[in-house]
Amino acid sequence: MNDHFADIFTETACPSQDQLLAYVEGKLSPAERHNVELHLQDCDLCSEAVEGLSAIQEKDKIPGWLREAKWNVLKKLRRKNHKRRKQDFYLFIGIVALVIILLAIGLYWAYHFSR
Ligand SMILES: [Zn+2]
Repeated sequence: MNDHFADIFTETACPSQDQLLAYVEGKLSPAERHNVELHLQDCDLCSEAVEGLSAIQEKDKIPGWLREAKWNVLKKLRRKNHKRRKQDFYLFIGIVALVIILLAIGLYWAYHFSR
């Protein structure tokens, strides 16, 4: 585990997702391909990613899936934020209502005792 983290921060940095995809699709130049292959020997993370990508038959659809996955994560995050904002809004309304009630009671008592 520690060795792996050390690998990440040395010159053998992991290729990007796009590069791995291009590797699986055979779109890399021979030099780039060689670099990726060298990296795969040392990196379990990337070999597993390449294995997973290789297992997919319709590679044309992979970029779409990735985009969709990102989009779904974004949507989920946005929905969460929205929910939180709604809760804050109700809290705010509650506090405002409480302040108005206290003011009304205060004014009532002030008025009541001033007579
Ligand atoms: Zn890697």
